[in-house]
Parts: sequence; structure tokens; C-alpha cells
Amino acid sequence: STQLSHFESCYPPVPLTRSSYYTFVLGRDIYAPEHPFTINGQTGHVTTRRALREDSLRLAHGLRNAHRAGLAPLRRGSVAMLLSPSTDLYVVVQFAMAAAGVTCVLANPAFSPGELAHALDVSDASHVFAHPSAVPLVHATLRARGLAERDIRQRVVLLAPDGEVPHELRTAGWVGLDRLDTTPVLGVPERFDGDEADATALIYFSSGTTGLSKGVELSHANLVANITLLSAVYMYNANNDDVTITGVPLFHVLGGLYLVMFSLFKGVPVVLLPRFVPAEYLACVQKYKVTTIITAPPVLLFLTNDPLVDQFDLSSLRILGVGAAPVSAELVHACKARFAARGWHLNIGQGYGMTEICGVCTYVPYEEMAARPTSIGRIFPNCAVRVVDADARPVPVGQPGELWIRSPAVMKGYAKNPTATAATITPDGWLRTGDVAVADAGGYLQITDRIKELIKYKGFQVAPAELENILSSHPDVADCAVIGVYSKEEATELPKAYIVPRDPKYLSSPAASDDLVKSIHAWLAPRVSSYKRLRGGIALTHEIPKSVSGKILKRKLREQEETKQPAA
Ligand code: AMP
Repeated sequence: STQLSHFESCYPPVPLTRSSYYTFVLGRDIYAPEHPFTINGQTGHVTTRRALREDSLRLAHGLRNAHRAGLAPLRRGSVAMLLSPSTDLYVVVQFAMAAAGVTCVLANPAFSPGELAHALDVSDASHVFAHPSAVPLVHATLRARGLAERDIRQRVVLLAPDGEVPHELRTAGWVGLDRLDTTPVLGVPERFDGDEADATALIYFSSGTTGLSKGVELSHANLVANITLLSAVYMYNANNDDVTITGVPLFHVLGGLYLVMFSLFKGVPVVLLPRFVPAEYLACVQKYKVTTIITAPPVLLFLTNDPLVDQFDLSSLRILGVGAAPVSAELVHACKARFAARGWHLNIGQGYGMTEICGVCTYVPYEEMAARPTSIGRIFPNCAVRVVDADARPVPVGQPGELWIRSPAVMKGYAKNPTATAATITPDGWLRTGDVAVADAGGYLQITDRIKELIKYKGFQVAPAELENILSSHPDVADCAVIGVYSKEEATELPKAYIVPRDPKYLSSPAASDDLVKSIHAWLAPRVSSYKRLRGGIALTHEIPKSVSGKILKRKLREQEETKQPAA
């Protein structure tokens, strides 16, 4: 008989605790109080385990007493947004919110005002903890929502250390973190035990399988489960000398969950850099003897191709975990060969996950990584996978189908969007990933394609529906469709738009089409984050291929793409 693609985890089940992630991650007494937890890669400032605990508890007291600093009140169950590049203070504030029982919304500080407004609507955040560089964005967004200046000042807290808040912001009445009441009394973190562990702890953004960006509600129980499952299979810090570094920003689930929570849980110091500056990044790897990098394919490409890499001693690096988007075996081999040429052995493995499942959910052991460069491995303990056909029946092993996952880390749902939640999680708890996978007889999985609309630019989500909505509001655009085109040079997909102009003159003269394309690029730029720009180009066309029911035939566009010239 044929073996079907349904696998319970090959790993023995592990017991799960139900508590807040704060208590779970910071409550362990296995490391010395002076053990470094985070290292600011730019200043060298070290936050020890003791400091992170104490600073976050003191700040939690300040949050509970926000009204005393002239802010709108915050209490257990409130929702507040963190809007900042990845800094050490970011981590302290995130843990302080957890300690105060405040749901933390993790958003991109480079959002456009429209994107931020959408994120605020979706999450219902009442406060924004914003890095000073994001204040103009927050201000413009809240003004456009009709909030008065006084009201805005009551809802925004500047996320910068004492003394680093620019003078003009201080004099304009913005409240800095240091204005919050931080008594020397530490207080206790809010508890989320038993049923309360189902309270929403974090909200990340993801478009899921279709439509616009949605707020992914992850509960304390979800987060604790994923950290527990990952640590049951992954021997991080086996030698007690692991050090890791930001390879993805903390507002992406891979950065937030894997880097911050899992590493801190394991006592692995995390070097934090607010942005990827190649020389600075390599210097930090060398200086702090980083052993492990978890990142998206473009960083793998950088380590493989950039001449700068030769100027640094990267001999401490042992593990490169790549995920968030597809990786080619060719690139994995080339990177390993470059390190091998300098006498260094680098293990490169692939991880797979989704925001909706607290990040990573499959694992390839070190000793198997070389033999399985494109496999995402097998599913975590306490989980199950299926590869199904269009009728939700498991397909025979070796055949492609949609990947479904059952896990205690599957999100509660999309915030304020039961329809999208019901379309994504089946009544018996399977998460429909929208990815196409093939399983082998041993339960090893390979991602081969994607049925959902999502485009991944360097690991960042680009929702075609969002770009299509915005482009459709351009006065010269009659119809449009956005797809992802793969660039081998950049090891990423690039968003590309097909546009039907209102006026056919744009199609008849190359000069006119050129002008329109340029003007659309310029028009789009301030409306979306940089990573959503149409780097794959704009192609003007007479018609967008559609089904009889009016659905855009994206597969047809993708097929056309493979036989076409590069676009403008
Ligand atoms: P995100 O929620 O931003 O982490 O995006 C999740 C999506 O990224 C998945 O559903 C996949 O489409 C894609 N993805 C993540 N990891 C991989 C991988 N190793 N190979 C291929 N696609 C991946």
C-alpha cells in the first residue's frame, strides 16, 4: 500500500508549562546574574541577565503608573506598539510590557504612514513606544487620524536611553522612557498561569495566505510551547560558548522568537545591531566570536560573495541557519566552500516557519545538514504535518501538496478577523500554510512552491493585494496585478507589477511608457516601506489574465515571466 504524507513528530513528546513567557524565559536560575544577555554591537554595552530582569521589572512599574507621567493609562490587558530598530532597549521594553501584562505589537519602524495606520487599526494599540527616528512617522500618522497634539503626547513614549532623546523632541513635549516612574522597588511580573496563558502576549504582522497584512495574535502558551519544542531538539549552547547576532530585525518573528526569546532562554548572548551594515556586522562576528547566525538567504549570499568577508576572522562561526524564504543548494555549497577554503567548517541548515506558528517549526540536525541542503527537516515534537491535495486528503509521499501543520504554537488567530482565522486554521487545529511541500518516507520535508499570494523580498513579507490596492488608486492605472519574480543575483524574490494603463497611448510609444513607469515608481515610493517597492519592475500590458470569475491568474503571469525579457 502507498504511504501517505501524514507524520506525527518523530521526536518524543515534551511536557509544556503554562505561564507567561516572561517567567518562562527570565525565571530560570541556571545562569549567573552577571551572565551577558544582550550586547549592543555599536556601543559594546552589555546587558546582563540581572540587568535585563531588574530594568524590565522597574520599567513594568513605570508602565503600570503611566498616568503619573502624563500618559494615557496602561494596565494588564492594554495593547501597546513597539516601533524601533533592534536595540538593547527594545528587548528591555518588550520584557517590561510582558511583566506588566501589556500585549506588545511589533511593527516595522520604516513603515509608511498608511502602513502604520493599518497596523494600529488591526491591533488596537493605544500607545506607541517609538524610537526617536520614528517619531515623525508616528506623529504624522496620528495627526492624520484626527488626534489632537495633546492626545498624541499622551500615547507616544520615546524609546531611547536617558540623555539620548534629541533636544527638539524633549522641548516639544514628548515623553521619554526616563519620565516613567521607576522606583527602586522591583515588583513582580504579572502571572499568566493555567487558562490565562492563552492571553495574547505578542502581535506580529503577516498577510497569511491571502489579502492584506493582519495582526497575528500569539499567546504566552504559544510562545512558551515553541521555545520548549525548539530547545528539545536543538543543542544550542551545548559547549556553553555560543553567541548569536541579529540577522533579522526583532519585529520579524524569527528575530523576536528565535533570537531574543530562545537565545535568552538558553543563556546565549545576543549581539544586537539596529541595521545590517556589512563591515560593522562582520566586525561584530569577529569581535564577539559569534558562533551562530540565523538569517534570511540574502545574508547567506553576502557571506558567499562579498569581498569584504575576506578581511575578517570568522573562524568562530559554526552554524548558519537560513530560513524565511527558499534557499538553493548551489548557494549553500558555495558558502561552505568559501569558508572551507580558509580552513573553517561551517554547518548550514535550513529552517522553515511562519509568523502564524511562532517562527520556526522544523529542524535538521547538524550532522544531517550537509546531506540535506534544501530540506527543512522534520517537524518539532508535539506537532504533526500533512501534505494534502485540494480536497484536504494526504497525498502519497514523494508527491507535492499543501503543507498543513498541527502544533501547540499555532497562533490564537488574526486580531479582529475571525473570517481570515477560520480560513487559515481548520476546526481540528491544522494550520494551512499556503506552501507546497514534498515529504519523503522518513518525514523529511522540502518546500517546493507556494500557492498563497505572498511575495518574500529578502525575508520580508510583501502582500500583492496591498500593492494592487494602492496601485489601483493611481489615476493612470486601469487594472493591475503584482507577482514575485526570482532574482538569482540577489537570492530573493522581487515584487513586479503588471499594469494596464487607462490611456492606450502609454502602450504605443516607448517614451510614453517609460514616463508612466517612472512616475508610478515615484508615486509609490512614499506610500509603502522600501522593501515593498517594485524592484522586479513594472510591465505595461493590454490585459491582466483573469479566470471567468474575475480572479487574477497569477500562475499564468508567472509562466509568462519565465519566457520574457527583463522589465523596466
Ligand atoms: P513569515 O511569516 O514572514 O515568516 O513568512 C512565512 C513564509 O515564508 C512561509 O509560509 C514560506 O512561504 C516562507 N518560508 C519560510 N521559510 C522558508 C524556507 N526555508 N523555504 C521556503 N520558504 C520559506
